[in-house]
Amino acid sequence: MDNFSLKIENLTFEYKTTFKDKWSLNNLNLAIQNGELIGLLGPSGCGKTTLLRLIAGFEQPSKGRILINNHIVATPDFLCPPERRGVGMVFQDYALFPHLNSWRNVCFGLRRGQDKSRAEWLFDLLGLSDLRNRYPHELSGGQKQRLALARALAPGTSLVVLDEPFSNLDVGVRLKLRSELSAVLKTCSASGILVTHDPDEALAICDRVAVMCDGQLHQCTSPNDLVHKPSSSFVARFVLQRNVLPISLSEGIIWTPLGKLKYPTNQRIINANEIIFDDQSLRIEKNTKGRAIVEGCEFQSNHWLLRVKFGIYKLRIYMSLGKSIRPGDRCNIFFDSNKTGILFPGAIKCPLNELIE
Ligand code: ATP
Repeated sequence: MDNFSLKIENLTFEYKTTFKDKWSLNNLNLAIQNGELIGLLGPSGCGKTTLLRLIAGFEQPSKGRILINNHIVATPDFLCPPERRGVGMVFQDYALFPHLNSWRNVCFGLRRGQDKSRAEWLFDLLGLSDLRNRYPHELSGGQKQRLALARALAPGTSLVVLDEPFSNLDVGVRLKLRSELSAVLKTCSASGILVTHDPDEALAICDRVAVMCDGQLHQCTSPNDLVHKPSSSFVARFVLQRNVLPISLSEGIIWTPLGKLKYPTNQRIINANEIIFDDQSLRIEKNTKGRAIVEGCEFQSNHWLLRVKFGIYKLRIYMSLGKSIRPGDRCNIFFDSNKTGILFPGAIKCPLNELIE
């Protein structure tokens, strides 16, 4: 028997709105092993919440099926109700019961007479023991979110869905809670799906990260693989904030808007049409006649991050703190020949060796 807490097979779902304005989740496949934490990333409106709603039982698939702990919970002909799925839910706005104190909030999902030792243990684990008589309005944001997590896990839940649980919290609390989350889930042997808008958060704490765009799953892999082997230019651009430029290929040369690059040796590049590279792959020099113009300059504690416009293209460029290029300055941009880009489709590594005439 498979060791999956959640299995999604060929899942398709459509919101039924007006004829011209329909939106669908298309043929999505995902399997989550017991104890795994999966980060779900994607642009606004790509379907993250809809996927959580399908897993939790608030929507029914139009094709495909969902299995939780090897039991089928949803098909186009069958819908197991949310309260019988054993899925815990944690939301951005905590969704606690205002008229119940902390302890009664956590015990709310337990059946009459059910053993409360797990709830006690979770209270301890999440540092809530001294707050059991307080009501939600008497708790800080971080305490409320801990309470919401304890409530989601108390009934013995093996799968928790978390919809941007940290987005209302300040940076310090957010960093602390997010590192506690994976440890708490592992301690409880529970799996989690964490929707977040923050790629760094997903890469930092999740075992795997799933990237969605427009109702489709683009890639689901380990943070390390995602950073080093993005499967598409969308993943590289959205998750890793890489620069993307169009290219054309002819006569052993890669033509980019910034200049010509040598064809990588020993590679057959058949139909690549984009090159992707990070913000440290370009050199920038101030020049009043330069074709690039600096639009923004962000301080990043140990370097500057420049936002530069080059014709119709927007680029992000790393600049050391000692340099003084500022918004409005004209510049020239060059590839750094020590760096490597990736050509898509095909994910082919390409040294950034510029051909100088
Ligand atoms: P965000 O990151 O902004 O929260 P999301 O990735 O969670 O977005 P969803 O809320 O899942 O996106 O919405 C996916 C798409 O479905 C959007 O285009 C949205 O407009 C549409 N949608 C959401 N709810 C409904 C609904 N009840 N009826 C019709 N369309 C809907």
